[in-house]
This record gives sequence, structure tokens and C-alpha cells, in this order.
Amino acid sequence: MTKFANVYVDISYDKLDKVFQYRIPEGMEVFPGLEVIVPFGMGNKPTKGIVTGITDSCDFDESKIKAIDSIASGSIVIESKLIALAAYIKETCGGTMNEALRAVLPVTKEVKRKISTEVVRKVSSDELSDYIRECNRKKSTAKARLAAELLSSDSLDKEAVTGKLHISPATLNAMVRDGVIDIVSKEVYRDPVKGNAEKTRDIVLNKQQEQVVNDFLDDYNRGQRGVYLIHGVTGSGKTEVYMSIIEEVIKQGKQVIFLIPEIALTFQMVKRFKGRFGNRVSILNSRMSAGERYDQYLRSKEGDIDIIIGPRSALFTPFANLGLIIMDEEHEGSYKSEKTPKYHTRNVAIKRGQMEGAAVILGSATPSLETTKMAEDGLVKRYFLNERAGKGEMPDIYVADLKEEIKAKNRSIFSRKLKELMEDRLAKGEQIMLFLNRRGYAGFVSCRSCGHVMKCPHCDVSLNYHKNGTLMCHYCGYTEKMPEKCPECGSPYIAAFGLGTEKVEEFVKKEFPSARTLRMDADTTAGKDGHEKILSAFANGEADILIGTQMIVKGHDFEKVSLVGILAADLSLFANDYLASEKTFQLLVQASGRAGRGRYKGDVVVQTYHPEHYCVEAAAKSDYFKFYDREMLFRRLSGYPPYVHLLAVVALGKKEDETENGSNKLYEAVKDTEGVRCGKAVWAAVAKINDIYRRVIYIRSEDMERLIEVKNRLEAFARDERELRNVSVQFDFDPRAGY
Ligand code: ADP
Ligand code: ZN
Ligand code: ZN
Repeated sequence: MTKFANVYVDISYDKLDKVFQYRIPEGMEVFPGLEVIVPFGMGNKPTKGIVTGITDSCDFDESKIKAIDSIASGSIVIESKLIALAAYIKETCGGTMNEALRAVLPVTKEVKRKISTEVVRKVSSDELSDYIRECNRKKSTAKARLAAELLSSDSLDKEAVTGKLHISPATLNAMVRDGVIDIVSKEVYRDPVKGNAEKTRDIVLNKQQEQVVNDFLDDYNRGQRGVYLIHGVTGSGKTEVYMSIIEEVIKQGKQVIFLIPEIALTFQMVKRFKGRFGNRVSILNSRMSAGERYDQYLRSKEGDIDIIIGPRSALFTPFANLGLIIMDEEHEGSYKSEKTPKYHTRNVAIKRGQMEGAAVILGSATPSLETTKMAEDGLVKRYFLNERAGKGEMPDIYVADLKEEIKAKNRSIFSRKLKELMEDRLAKGEQIMLFLNRRGYAGFVSCRSCGHVMKCPHCDVSLNYHKNGTLMCHYCGYTEKMPEKCPECGSPYIAAFGLGTEKVEEFVKKEFPSARTLRMDADTTAGKDGHEKILSAFANGEADILIGTQMIVKGHDFEKVSLVGILAADLSLFANDYLASEKTFQLLVQASGRAGRGRYKGDVVVQTYHPEHYCVEAAAKSDYFKFYDREMLFRRLSGYPPYVHLLAVVALGKKEDETENGSNKLYEAVKDTEGVRCGKAVWAAVAKINDIYRRVIYIRSEDMERLIEVKNRLEAFARDERELRNVSVQFDFDPRAGY
């Protein structure tokens, strides 16, 4: 019987996003996930596509349907499960099916396997000894040399033989003829996780940890596969809990995906995991070569590894029998894709877990408000770990009011308290981390004398500075002129704030000339091993002070760090998005968590212009729920997630007027939709990037389904509407930053 294939045609033309049906020629073996070449369009141009399904019947006139040309060479098959996941992403996040497929495919092409050639011994040790004696008699010293090497090992790498041992190819050939060796070539996997595993210490889980492990495994062994949250303070032993659970899950023949927020954290995590699980662990990320990625993809499929560690794209590892997905530091913003489709890893992980019967564990010291709300609503089972597990206690936290420092004529970037503690630690030979919060620093305007921040009178977010001298709210479009004096205290020192890590290093060198410093930021970590080098150097005690941005606050465990200085806690507090307080709170708590993880008691100094802000107060007391309650109140009163869902519709165009008109059309098309609240189209904060103009519409609803309907309607509208011909429309559900 003739069969038909649904094919997504891979054309880089957004507006056409449909499956096309093709006839499967007699004898051709076609299945979902396969890449094929099909004739496409009027000219029947050979075009690549991905098979998404097979059917027995044809939806069109069968005589007119075209047949698949051929199977694309070197294509790898994606599981139909991953295609289903791509369809879910497309439906809930927007964008085309092709974009969704590209997101779930960490690797799209087959890469030639690496070949390793070895010299293998073919005879017994006794025979080889006889052979060596004979070679020595005949003065064949090269032969004797290699044979002697082979006495102690059965095979040698050919490169080492011709290189280090200076054995010529002619000698090798002669020895093959003598019948003592063979030359064997085989395909090997590239190993992206070379290097040493951490020695495993025998850790006995404490009571709290053990309870979590036991309770989870009780559920698991009963076949229950839900979503779990481990809310544990920094250093409470979450990773040890994960590892104990993983050990049990892989014993049952299942595989595990372990997600980390960014590549920089891979190194430390892999070392720990390798110590415990050996070569059954691998990694997958975008910094690896295509060959390395392909090999890990293949090894996962072939059941050669049990655990894959990586940032969000590792979620799409093609494991056949996935048992568990762990998402460490689940609150991190990097779990949201910034490219279309703008999916959140948490949602997709939960979906994949449901589809494949895998449990999902979210872990954090500062869970996102969404996740805590899900726990409070009973949708997520939550565990708490309240104390540090290993050595070390929670640090003492001091808040330094920068307004007081100015009054006291302290012109340094270091408060008196921080300076005093830095001197103390340098004298004792302990280590210091200085953290500069630069997130969201671009744009907001504050007074250097009193700390006043210019805010929107309607939205409770800070106004953004625009080059033409105006201040603007990016949620409602309110604008005013940049003031010449602070409206609060009259000081003329009101400006957009800015302080870089390089500047901080200069200040350190000036005030502490003998201190050795390391700087970790985007400049110093370029290149493949940039992060590792700096982190290893600091761990080895090659510097006294590590200076960095958010990169240094996450996950690292440095024994000798006993002081953390947070130079300007508020820099992200008044950024132009509703998540500003949440992000700041998380950063402050995570940064504090770096202090006192070892033998030395830790101190943290939080420098701020706003010691009374609930976010700073709660962080200084490490009081998550004080922050949570207060922040949820704000979200509820002002209508932000997680109380409602927020959809940003972004219109992009090359011409200013076309973009403006187009976005207004979009607004007109949905403004009266029942069950949603629609803001007017406004210019984005950065109204033009790379000569592309950007307009944005914010739409709110309690009901996600409604917003998805609105998205579908706008997608269709944008395809058909003449005035949107030259405007592309992107969707961002529950955006992590303001547009
Ligand atoms: P988290 O992931 O919550 O930050 P980790 O699992 O990294 O915590 O643990 C922090 C430190 O405490 C690590 O050095 C770890 O080896 C140690 N640790 C964890 N659990 C125990 C335990 N039960 N006994 C002793 N040390 C522990
Ligand atoms: Zn002022
Ligand atoms: Zn506003």
C-alpha cells in the first residue's frame, strides 16, 4: 500500500510554516525524524525537510502529490518524542516549527568519526621475548625497542610509536610481516570531559538529606513521577542529594539529564560527578566542537552514557529511557531561551518529564516565585534543607549604607566596614570575592547624593534613559525630560549609573597595593577554557581577591573565601523590569552564599543606597519568605507573573513608520479580546538594534490558553495582513526582561 509522509520543509522563509505531504516511493524506508530531500515549489527545487509523521491516506488529490526524492545523506534521526516536544514548544511559545525543531536538535549533521590507530601485540610474552633476543642478535634495534614496549602493554597508540619511540613505518610493516604485531584502526568517541575526576570523599548524608532522598525514592519506586523542589540554603548539600538519587535511578537502567544554568559551571560539576559515576557521565553544550557534540549525542542514543550535564540545550539529549531531569539553580534567567522560540526550560522539562515518564527535580537556594507558588498551590512537592551540610556556617551579613559613607566623606568605592574586613583577611592570608552587580545597569538614572531613582508614576518600575535626553517607562510609554537636578534633594549629581570590573580592579590596586587580584568578566573569560583557568587559579590560591560580575556568584565552592563584598547591591534593583527585585534578591543571597564554605568563618558586606528596601533587608537576613510575601503582594497588585501571564508581542521592521503602523494594527486586532488585557503598542527600550526598529505590546491574562489563542490569531493575522508584509512578529511569554 502506498504510504505518505508529512514533511516540514526547511526553508528559511518564516511566513511559510506548514507540513507538506509527499508520497513515499516504493522500497524507500522513511520514518519520523528522518531528513529527506523533496521537490518543492513551482520549480520542484530539491529541498531538505524533516519527516514528522507517516500516514496511510492522502489529504489531497493523490494523482497530484509529489514523491520524496531521497533520504538526505548524513542525517541523524530525531526521536518522534523530540518532534512532539518541538510541537509543544511551537504551540506554547510561538515561532515556526522549523525554529522549534532547530531548538530541540543540539546536533543536526553527522560528523566524521575520529579514527584512532593502535599497534597491537599478537603473540605471547614468551614468544615476544624470543623475538626480542633474535632482533638484538640481528642488530635490529628499532624492532627490539618496540617489542620491549609491548611486553608491558598489549597495545600502543600508533602516533606515540612513530613519534616518541621513533619507529619508522617500514619497521612497523616488517614487524607485521614477522607476525608479531597488528595495526588496528577503530572509530573512537571524542571525549569532551577529559581531565581529572575529583576524589570522592565518603559522605554520609545527614538526616535532612536522607529524608529527601528516601521520600523521593519512595515515590519513584511506586511509579510516581511528579515535579519536586529542593529548596536548600547555599551549601546545604543539594548536590549530594541529587547524586544519591541519580545513583538509584541509573541502577534501574534509566538515564538522567542534569541541567545547569551556564557553561561556566560545567567544570566543577563534572569533576564531582566523574568522581562518583566515572565515564558514564558526559556533557553537551554549545562551546563543544560539532564533532564532540555529535559523539555525545550518539553515545546517549546508544546507551553508552547515563548522565548528561549541560545548560538548557542538554534537555534535548535523546535518551531512550529517560528517568529523571534535574534542574539545578532553577531560578536562573539563563534557562529562558533568548532566541525564538523563547521557551522556558522549566516548562519544557516538566513537559518532557510527563511525556516520557521521568521525574523532575528543581533545586535552588532562592527558588523563582513561579516555582514557590506552584509548591504553595500543591503542584510541586517541596523539601527544605535549612542548614549547611559540610564544614562552615552561614556567614554574618553587614549592610553598609552608602549615603552614610558619602556623609562621612569616604570617597572610596569601599565602605569603611568592607575596607576594614578586607585588610583583616589579607593579613590572615584568606581569600576575598568582590562582586559587582551590573545586571540591568544600563539606563536607569539615580542621584549620587541621596540615591533617589527616577521612576514611572504609574508602573513602579524605573525609567530608562534615552540618548535624546528623555526618560521613559517601557511598560506604559510614559515619558518625561531628564531632570538637571535631583527632584528629591536638589543635587546636580544625577546621572545614569556605571562602574565596571576593570575600574574596581584599579581601585583595589590603589588601596591594597600588595593584594593579588584576578578579574572574571566577559573580557577575561573569552575562549574555550577561559572560566576554568581563572577559577582554578583562584582555587589554587594564586590570587587574594577575585573580582567579577554575576559569573562569580554561582555554585562555586572555594574553601578559603571568608569575605564577600557586594559593591553596589541596588544596581539591578531599579532596572526596567518587574523581575528587578527578584533578580536582585537572588543575586544577593547567592553571592552571600560564597562566603565561609570552608574552615574559615565568613562575612558578607552588602553596600547599598537603600538599606531599607525589603529586598536588601530580606537578603541581609537570608529570609526568603519575608521577600516572597512582600514581592508577591507587589506582583498581585500590579498584575505581573506569577499571578497573571504576560505576553510580549514584539514587532520588528526595517522602516520606522512600517513598524509603528504594523504594531498598531496588531494592537487593533486583539485589543478587544475577551479575557485578556492589552496595552498599547509602544517603542521598545532600545527602539532600534542593528537598524531594526522594535515595538512592543504587553498582553495579560490569568489564563495561559487565552494568550496562546491570541498568539495564534496574531500569527495568522501577520501572515495575511498587507501592512505587516515587512514586519516580523515575535512572541515572548512571561518575559524575563523588559523590552
Ligand atoms: P549545595 O549544592 O546545596 O550548594 P553541596 O552538595 O555542594 O551543597 O554541599 C556543600 C558542601 O558540603 C560540599 O563541600 C559537600 O561535599 C559538603 N557536604 C554535603 N553533604 C554533606 C554531608 N552529609 N556531610 C559532610 N559534608 C557534606
Ligand atoms: Zn538626590
Ligand atoms: Zn509606566
